[in-house]
Amino acid sequence: MRYIRGFRDGAAAAALAEALGEEVDPGRDYHLMEFCGGHTHAIFRYGVEDLLPGNVRLVHGPGCPVCVLAVPRLDAAIELARRTDVTLVSYGDMLRVPASRRRSLLKARALGADVRMVYSALEALEIAAAHPQRQVVFFAIGFETTTPATAHVIREALRLGLDNFSVYCNHVVTPAAIQSILDSPEVREWGQVRVDGFIGPSHVSAVIGSQPYEYFAEEYQRPVVIAGFEPLDVVQAIRMLVRQLNSGRACVENQFTRGVTREGNAKAQRLVAEVFELRRSFEWRGLGELPYSGLRIKAAYGRFDAERRFAMEFKATPENAACQCPAIIRGIKKPTDCAIFGTVCTPRNPIGSCMVSAEGACAAYYKYRRGTLQAAG
Ligand code: SF4
Repeated sequence: MRYIRGFRDGAAAAALAEALGEEVDPGRDYHLMEFCGGHTHAIFRYGVEDLLPGNVRLVHGPGCPVCVLAVPRLDAAIELARRTDVTLVSYGDMLRVPASRRRSLLKARALGADVRMVYSALEALEIAAAHPQRQVVFFAIGFETTTPATAHVIREALRLGLDNFSVYCNHVVTPAAIQSILDSPEVREWGQVRVDGFIGPSHVSAVIGSQPYEYFAEEYQRPVVIAGFEPLDVVQAIRMLVRQLNSGRACVENQFTRGVTREGNAKAQRLVAEVFELRRSFEWRGLGELPYSGLRIKAAYGRFDAERRFAMEFKATPENAACQCPAIIRGIKKPTDCAIFGTVCTPRNPIGSCMVSAEGACAAYYKYRRGTLQAAG
């Protein structure tokens, strides 16, 4: 805690913000996207935006795992949970995400489905070991941060010979999502979203390293700075991006040198590569089908793949017409552009996925900005 406190120091933040202000060119605007919901949360929690010069604007990106899960895949999980022989296990936020027809895993549980919340993938394995008469399915979501843990439990299930355990794999990869943002018509053709540079996630990068971002920094001429999740980390990363943009550079820099290397965690990468492979295409909420952006379980571990074990169906379904989550995930709109933000849609009664997790943009706005917005309104 003492170590972290230094990265939250108000005086140091003010000094850093002043230095940033001196380097910002008043004759131009800077539009910087924080890809990860963890950064969005930190930015609101610590009031980072209030420290920035007016011409430095932050655009919230799609890096919130529960926000980007496509509704047909959530619907399929609910159908799986309704089977009388299945115990469906997942992280707490996932249970609250609204599916089609206002359903959710929590509501399915209230109607009798065996749905359980866990804090780790290992807990799911323990439930399977303790209940050999049940088919225990771990509903796995998340970016590269959580993928190694899922790979580990699949290997453990093989070692333990647990035939009643399987994984419904919804893991996604970060670089593909960033590339899709840069390729999107809103950015490339219509000018609806301007992204001059990216604040990259440190936890994901601790696993994959900084090297995977080099391609699109060079190809799309957008600088990337990998940053920690403390407020001073974020302000320093913004300053590094401003420096790159001022000098016409577009490369990958690492602000979070205390945890990220260019190569990343080779052991975790080997584990993931042993168990998972890229899908040709994967549907994201708000971003649509993205090539090579999601993972599936390799054939060698196919007996633990819930999609192979059960006849899972993915049916296209329209989004709730009032919910602006797809546009928010793409960075086109802000939560306050949604007509039902903070009224019909609240964290206690989420209508869309962005209001569920602390990493969702709507939940962050609601928690940290609602008072300001009400006073201004
Ligand atoms: S406020 Fe609720 S309904 Fe509106 S975009 Fe956010 S999550 Fe969706």
